Amino acid sequence: MSRHRTDARIRVRGPRGPGSAALTAFAVLTLTCAANGQGDAADQENALRAARMAMVDLIEARGVRDSATLAAMRSVPRHEFVPPEYRARAYRDSPLPIGWDQTISQPYIVALMTETAGIRPGMKVLEIGTGSGYQAAVLAEIGARVFSIELLEPLATSAAARLARLGYSGVTVRQGNGYLGWPEEAPFDAVIVTAAPEEIPTPLTDQLKPGGRLVIPVGGVRAVQQLLLVTKDADGTLRRRTLIPVRFVPMREPPG
Ligand code: SAH
Repeated sequence: MSRHRTDARIRVRGPRGPGSAALTAFAVLTLTCAANGQGDAADQENALRAARMAMVDLIEARGVRDSATLAAMRSVPRHEFVPPEYRARAYRDSPLPIGWDQTISQPYIVALMTETAGIRPGMKVLEIGTGSGYQAAVLAEIGARVFSIELLEPLATSAAARLARLGYSGVTVRQGNGYLGWPEEAPFDAVIVTAAPEEIPTPLTDQLKPGGRLVIPVGGVRAVQQLLLVTKDADGTLRRRTLIPVRFVPMREPPG
């Protein structure tokens, strides 16, 4: 099949808009073939790209408006960040297992957190909970300099290798305990936490610049977690706003 025909057939943002059931069904079918290694390489890439565009159209329809966030989500190949057996599901809007009892976050939540943190090119951003590296890649795609901490050594190692292979040179990953932040690189324009502590760790607000934003899920293991936006005023005053209820893996190894 020629590249031209493939492009024409899998375009998903046609006049009928992102909700077109026929096109979505087609994209899913093609994607399953692509994920199973059927079809030539160009077909596979096109199918994955079409599925990604359709997913981000739905995220936009759910209310994410920031153009930098949406462009980054349309660009980062989420299928590269999930285990091979989940590739065909990479562009469903849901979390997926990445091993060691951890998950790659739901894409809508990644987009919402990125938008809420107000990420812009050149910003210095701290992420806690590297996991697969997907959220870090979205931040780097916008042009931020990203410092990401992962507690579990095997995940830190594999995420760092994956990000390097995909060319995300703006991300630095290290194994460590995110409760302590990264004092050597502070202060940060934004901090994004992708595991849930029971309380906001003080080092993370201490390491925010004046005017900086912290986006963090907070809640006990059995309690409902809330996604919070904490902003630091020019005079250092912290303000918190509750966004939506969420479910993240717990942030482990609290100090003390
Ligand atoms: N941002 C990730 C999703 C991560 S899931 C992605 O885009 O794929 C949460 C991650 O936080 C897990 O990998 C978990 O190991 C890590 N984590 C849990 N407690 C932590 C801590 N105290 N410090 C750093 N990372 C932690």
